[in-house]
Amino acid sequence: MILNMFEKLTIPNTLAAGPGPGNTDPRVLEQFSKAGLADHMHPDVLRGMKECKFMLREVWGTRNTYTFGVAGTGWSGLDAMISAVQPGDKVLAFVNGTFSGIDALSLRMKAATDEELAANSLDPDAASVKVVNVPHGQSVSADIIDQHMNEYKPKWAFMAHYETGSGRVNDIKSFSKACVRNSAMGLVDAVSSLGVGDFRIDDYPGVVAWASCPQKGISCLPLTYAPVSFADKYIEVLKARGARTFVHNPIFEARHWGIIDGKDVDKGVYHRTHSAYAVAAFHESLRLTLQEGISNRAAKYMKFEKVLSAAFRAMGCDVTSDMTSLVVLNLPENLAGREMEFVQHCRSENFGIWPTLSEPVQVRVGILNLLSDESIAEIINKFGTALKELGGNFDDNLVSLEMNKMSEQIAAE
Ligand SMILES: *Cc1c(COP(=O)(O)O)cnc(C)c1O
Repeated sequence: MILNMFEKLTIPNTLAAGPGPGNTDPRVLEQFSKAGLADHMHPDVLRGMKECKFMLREVWGTRNTYTFGVAGTGWSGLDAMISAVQPGDKVLAFVNGTFSGIDALSLRMKAATDEELAANSLDPDAASVKVVNVPHGQSVSADIIDQHMNEYKPKWAFMAHYETGSGRVNDIKSFSKACVRNSAMGLVDAVSSLGVGDFRIDDYPGVVAWASCPQKGISCLPLTYAPVSFADKYIEVLKARGARTFVHNPIFEARHWGIIDGKDVDKGVYHRTHSAYAVAAFHESLRLTLQEGISNRAAKYMKFEKVLSAAFRAMGCDVTSDMTSLVVLNLPENLAGREMEFVQHCRSENFGIWPTLSEPVQVRVGILNLLSDESIAEIINKFGTALKELGGNFDDNLVSLEMNKMSEQIAAE
């Protein structure tokens, strides 16, 4: 007798208007489902991985040889990014929301001594790690960076580029400069900025390691590859001191992508099994990104975020974010405190928006891969309808007026 056998799983289509995952392009899904089954050492799979590596260097704007994908999600790439951090290393971490908070926890786990880890294994207090907490809703700014970098003089410094928990963009330029000035090695969580913002990592020489994810700006949800990039300086430190991981050791990982001893080689070597489906999907998402162009795409995010925010403000909401793919807001005063209920109400209508994951509770609405007038109008429509259903009160004409004003202003710029 079978005790646990279920009906075929069906998952509805939603309007994924959250911080991520973003809507995967049909072209990517087609490549995912149409790839043939070939093993991970088949010449075309290896060629696909090598081509992905070259395309990734374009997308990231870098000549770092150690640029490739780590199988999994953002945390997989971030885990590889901090693999070189050793117990007792001096680390300075800037935290301004949920994700940088988890990054800082990961760093405390890596840098904790045996005793510190054993004392509180899930949340160790590592004496060599200094965490600078910036209040929710604020960016990590030049002043904060300079003050703490000059004072603490860390070996490793960490910051999130875009903090998706609060929707804030942090000052990557000042961070890189402060790393160079203080001979610190910068580590950056770029999970939410790659494919969304217009930046090239080679413009930030103080940052020696970067990690992103497949399902946000790169629009490749079929669990594929978390893009990572390491400067040679990082690889030298890693090689000299080692890392206590096989699978997420960037030197080992890079081999399968045809990077050995700091050089591109013809043929990758086995590290772990790679899926032909995943490689085909990732490959297509990178082609899409390059076809559209990072700058073009970034400009679209900027434009649509402005229009969306203008509409929300006209509905009486208070926008506190400055990210271009995500709007974080407080509901109008008469609905204050009902953010969770509002989000759940929207989600029950297959309109997938999010609350913040750490206090204070706010509403997050994202536009990943929803870069068209129609999609933005649909989000505004659904949001406004839900707001009215909960007792919100605003003038539809004013919303249209403010949106048009903003569109005209952008067109004139
Ligand atoms: C989404 C996100 C993560 C986590 O990525 P996963 O793909 O869920 O593992 C980490 N950092 C930031 C800034 C993020 O936005």
